[in-house]
Amino acid sequence: MNVLKTIRNYYFYCGIEKDEYNAVKKDAYISNFEVWKILHFLMAAAFCLLYLASLRYSMMETNRRFYLLAFLYSACAIVCFFILRKDSILAQFLIYLSMSLLFLFAAFISINKPENNATTFIVLLVLTPMFMIDKPYFMTIELSVASAVFLVWMHDVKPIDVWRVDLVNAVSFTVIGCFLNVIANALRIREFVLTRKIRIQRDTDEMTGLRNKGSLTREIDGFLEDKSAKKGLLFVLDIDSFKSINDTYGHDVGDDVIIQLGGFLGKYFTDHEIVGRFGGDEFIVFIKNTDDLESARKKAEELVAGVSKSVLLPDHAKAVSISIGIAAYNGHENNYSDLFKKADTAMYQAKADPENRFYIYE
Ligand code: GH3
Ligand code: MG
Repeated sequence: MNVLKTIRNYYFYCGIEKDEYNAVKKDAYISNFEVWKILHFLMAAAFCLLYLASLRYSMMETNRRFYLLAFLYSACAIVCFFILRKDSILAQFLIYLSMSLLFLFAAFISINKPENNATTFIVLLVLTPMFMIDKPYFMTIELSVASAVFLVWMHDVKPIDVWRVDLVNAVSFTVIGCFLNVIANALRIREFVLTRKIRIQRDTDEMTGLRNKGSLTREIDGFLEDKSAKKGLLFVLDIDSFKSINDTYGHDVGDDVIIQLGGFLGKYFTDHEIVGRFGGDEFIVFIKNTDDLESARKKAEELVAGVSKSVLLPDHAKAVSISIGIAAYNGHENNYSDLFKKADTAMYQAKADPENRFYIYE
């Protein structure tokens, strides 16, 4: 059973578990995109040179129009590579299309010299699987169909003894190509898994599982630098008298309060909001694409009430209270720290005012 599962994983998920594969799939698509974009430039240059050479050397004349067509296709594909999103299915489809056309090109080359064995086709069977990270069974289909079409097509075109050698070569190198693809996929996908793990570790606050300071800064700065982003709301939250919680109940209870607050914020906000622990007892929330102060007020009220109810101390009669400072982004601040100063000022206003647990920076 385990052997079957391992084989399934290798064939469908590059040798790792399905969930892990789905988590890094987009990284693999982006890598394919970058690699094949460069390959298309090389293809365009090579076909252009071959075409120019075919104008000069008569022995290359028979393939001239294929060189020209292949050059034109590569040029069009390059344009697509500049338009398409890197991790889109369409980009992935374009790569498979290019691969199929390369096989077709190799078949036409072979037709022009039917008395020779199909070298270009065979080389492609081994080369292309090395440059594609995807579920290996797609490549198995791609290579098998290409070989089958090629062999059926060439059966009446080539002398039978040449065809027989092509048959043996095509079958063996299809198997080798598929095998190489499985190995290349398994090796390269592990790189993405590792990079993802390192990235998560770097960006996560160990205690709460939320974003840490570095990740918050990077993410919010990234949003503010984006010229199309015009609105946002930054919340700075800080536990009131946290030192006395530590002093009264001990550091472990203090830690637990931080963990509970992190859990509460993680549940209250969705994936669209940037939520994290800035450090100590201070948390940050950034809500993108809104400067609606009324809804900010409502959220702040809900947060203050929610924390006093959900974050518990050993003495249940006592409640945990937080202060919140809010600053709206209207396209003026260029970086996170300018906006943070405003929200932080508002937070200290809230701390100083026992009547109000939150303030909005005016
Ligand atoms: P204020 O109402 O003005 O916010 O007062 P405060 O007592 O909460 O003071 P402040 O926010 O400045 O201090 C935070 C304290 O949190 C200081 C530090 O001892 C404690 N602290 C920082 N990180 C941790 C942690 O990871 N665990 C625990 N238990 N305490 C921490
Ligand atoms: Mg505090």
